[in-house]
Amino acid sequence: MKRIYLDNAATTPTRPEVIEAMQPYFKQSFGNPSSVHFFGKETLNAINEARYRVAQMLGTKDEEIIFVSGGTESDNLAIFGTAYANRDKGHHIITSQIEHKAVLEPCRFLEREGWRITYLPVDSAGMVDPDDVKDAITEETVLISIMNANNEIGTIQPLNEIGTIARERGVYFHTDAVQAFSHIPVKVDEINVDLLSFSGHKFYGPKGIGGLYVRKGTAISPYLFGGYQEFNLRAGTENVPGIVGIGKAVQLSMLEMDAQIVYIASLRDKLVRSLLEIEGVRLNGHSSQRLPNNINVSVDFVDSEAMVINLDFKGIAISAGSSCTAAMKGPSHVLTAIGLSYEEARSSIRITIGKDNTEEELTYFLDVFKDVVNNLRDMSPVFQERRLGSK
Ligand SMILES: *Cc1c(COP(=O)(O)O)cnc(C)c1O
Repeated sequence: MKRIYLDNAATTPTRPEVIEAMQPYFKQSFGNPSSVHFFGKETLNAINEARYRVAQMLGTKDEEIIFVSGGTESDNLAIFGTAYANRDKGHHIITSQIEHKAVLEPCRFLEREGWRITYLPVDSAGMVDPDDVKDAITEETVLISIMNANNEIGTIQPLNEIGTIARERGVYFHTDAVQAFSHIPVKVDEINVDLLSFSGHKFYGPKGIGGLYVRKGTAISPYLFGGYQEFNLRAGTENVPGIVGIGKAVQLSMLEMDAQIVYIASLRDKLVRSLLEIEGVRLNGHSSQRLPNNINVSVDFVDSEAMVINLDFKGIAISAGSSCTAAMKGPSHVLTAIGLSYEEARSSIRITIGKDNTEEELTYFLDVFKDVVNNLRDMSPVFQERRLGSK
């Protein structure tokens, strides 16, 4: 069966160039980067080159990049690391209601430990209001963590304004940039952040590798203890093939990002126009401040899981709201935060386009999607009643 992958926010395929760059580090170049002999120097050099690539991408110094095991560890290190290092100042953190679980769950843990967490609301497009951030800051606030771009609805936050406020008030500012990094231009000095999380497998790099940008001078504690790797912030022998892979993925993204944004956004805009022509379909998230690859729509009277499963039968992979909600009960916390009803949230799907998707694939998707929606609506008594009622 022909398979079409439209779930690129969940993960992306690892690029062949990335796999090729990683190969030697599983074979002949296996040294421990901490070793002083040739084998160690060889892998240390490879790590340093990858660090340089990431630093270039973000406009930072090399020594401000810490490699970790992925986006989740990066978010956890940013939150627990700054909370612990600054606990003498206070026990208050500001975040938003639409963060990824990798930010929300560490915050919930700290809440149970006696910290006060402010979960800022968002507007109907999924935007945090910088004035709300300003109003929430107290003398006790040690960290603000607001994501760069949302993984479900693609909304891009006004980080520059929030970062300016954080800087004025002397509060550290972290952003989960896992969905934005290597997809849209992200320079730490333009968005005024002190800490920024990214993950390899969301931009055609390998799984199990990511990183945290830590601005020089930021008070942060490690939360894994052992060796002195990664500037004493992340103990453990480095994932050398992973680091080489993420470095290669970043290098290629830097060359291709501008063209990819134009290409992917044009596919998205065309598909959104066609989807909105279908009766009872609405776009969720911001109309312009949004990731180039993200489409999230509510489809009246159709259950999102039913759409996902029926499309999967036809070889098409999309997700219901967010991939992480797949195993959870209840509607997505992001969709309810932007004001969707339970029913609307339970009838929403996410389509995320990748650099390798073609126009033909999206045309095929649209045809199949219309069939699936029609079939499911034919089976829906509520929809039939409404249809009769409106005639
Ligand atoms: C995927 C994702 C994460 C988690 O990254 P992993 O590398 O899978 O641990 C965190 N935040 C956001 C916004 C994500 O999309």
